[in-house]
Amino acid sequence: MASVGQITRQISALEISSKQNTTRTTTTATTTTTQHKKNASQTNVTKLLSKYAAPNPFPTSSSLQKAASSQSIASKTQQEASRPPSPTRPAPVKQHTIDIGKYDGGFEIENETRGAKITGQAAEDLALDSSVAAYLPTREWHLTDFDIGRPLGKGKFGRVYMVRTKTEPHYILALKCLYKSEIVQSRVEKQIRREIEIQQNLRHPHVLRLYGYFHDEKRIFLMLEFAGKGELYRQLTKYGSFTEKRSSRYIDQMADALGYLHAKHVIHRDIKPENLLLGINGELKIADFGWSVHAPGSRRKTLCGTLDYLPPEMVEGREHSEKVDHWALGVLTYEFICGAPPFEDLSGYNATYKRIARVDLKIPAKVSPEARDVITRLLQYDPEKRIPLSEVRKHPWIVKYRSKGHSTAGIS
Ligand code: AMP
Repeated sequence: MASVGQITRQISALEISSKQNTTRTTTTATTTTTQHKKNASQTNVTKLLSKYAAPNPFPTSSSLQKAASSQSIASKTQQEASRPPSPTRPAPVKQHTIDIGKYDGGFEIENETRGAKITGQAAEDLALDSSVAAYLPTREWHLTDFDIGRPLGKGKFGRVYMVRTKTEPHYILALKCLYKSEIVQSRVEKQIRREIEIQQNLRHPHVLRLYGYFHDEKRIFLMLEFAGKGELYRQLTKYGSFTEKRSSRYIDQMADALGYLHAKHVIHRDIKPENLLLGINGELKIADFGWSVHAPGSRRKTLCGTLDYLPPEMVEGREHSEKVDHWALGVLTYEFICGAPPFEDLSGYNATYKRIARVDLKIPAKVSPEARDVITRLLQYDPEKRIPLSEVRKHPWIVKYRSKGHSTAGIS
C-alpha cells in the first residue's frame, strides 16, 4: 500500500488534461439500431444485481432497511457494509490528510457562461439523482457537500475536479460535471442516462466506480472513484509502448474486468486506451461507459466505437455480441506492445476498414511468441473462435508476469 506521503506526491503530480486534445477519430454512424428500452434495462440491471451486488458505501438508512428485508441480498449487504474495503470491494479513498489541491472556482465561473436550462422530456430524462434510484439509493447529495480541489481534466460536457466529502469519513472522489443542454444538443440524453445506470451498478476493482449522482438546473454531477494516476493513454503517449510485462499485467486486469462485465450481460464496445484510467497503485480502471450496452440475450447492430478498435462484424454491419470486446482486447494488447493499433492505416478510413475485414495482421518480429499467440487468438475473424477471457487469464504470457497476490478469482 502506498503511504499517505506517496499518495500526496502522486496526487500533486497530476496535471490538468483535456481529452479533447488527444481523442482519436471516432465513428458514430448507425446502421441498424435496436432501441434500448430504459425500463427493461433497469429491471434487468436490478435482477442481475440481486445476484452480483456489493454494497454502496453511501447508502441511505432506508435503503439498508430495504436491503435487510430482502432475503437474497440482505445479510450480505449489511455484513459487507460493516467490513473494511477489500481489493474486490473497492471503496473511495478515505484520507482527510490528502492535499486535494487548490480550487480555481471553475464550476461556478463556467456555470455563469456555459449551458442553458432545459425543459420538457429532456429535463425529465436528465433529472438524475442517485438518492431516488430504484436499486440501493444513496443519501441525497449536493455540490455544497464537497470541498473542491484541483481540476483533473476537461471532458466533452464539462470539467472534472478532485473533491473530498465534507462529512466523515472525508472520502476523496472525482466529481464530473456534465452540462444538460450540451447533452441535449448532442442528442445523447438516453446514452448518458444509460451510461450512468450501467456504471452505478458495477462493482469491480478494475471498473471505475460511480458512487452517486445528483443534478441542478443546468448540470449533472457524477461522483466517481478517484483514479490517482490519471489516463493510461497519457502513459502510452509518454513511453510510446509498454514492456511485455506491463502489457501482460494490464491485459490480465482487462480480461478480469471484461469477464465480470460480460457475466452481467454488459458489453463495453468502446475499449481503447483513452477510456482507461489508472488507480493510485497503477491498477487499471475501465471508465467511460458511453457506448456500453446492457442487452441480455440480444444482439446489436449499432455501429459505434473507435475505428481502429472495431471488429470485422461491426465494420461489415453484421450483428455483434460481447465478442467485440475480445477483439478490442486483442487490438489493445497489440497497441500496448507495439505502440500503434494493428489495422491503423493513415491513408484513410476505407483502408483501415479493409484491413480489419481482411484481418490484415502483421506482428513485428520483436513481439514474443507468447504475446503473438494471445494477439492472434483474440483477433479472429469469426467471433466464436476468439479465445475466451478465462483462457486469456490462464495463458502462459499472462501467468508468467502475474505478480504474487494478484487476484485470480474468476479464473476457472
Ligand atoms: P472525461 O470527461 O471522462 O473525458 O474526463 C476528462 C478528464 O478528466 C480525463 O481525461 C481524466 O484526465 C480526468 N478524469 C476523469 N475522470 C477521472 C477520475 N475518476 N479520476 C481522475 N481523473 C479523472
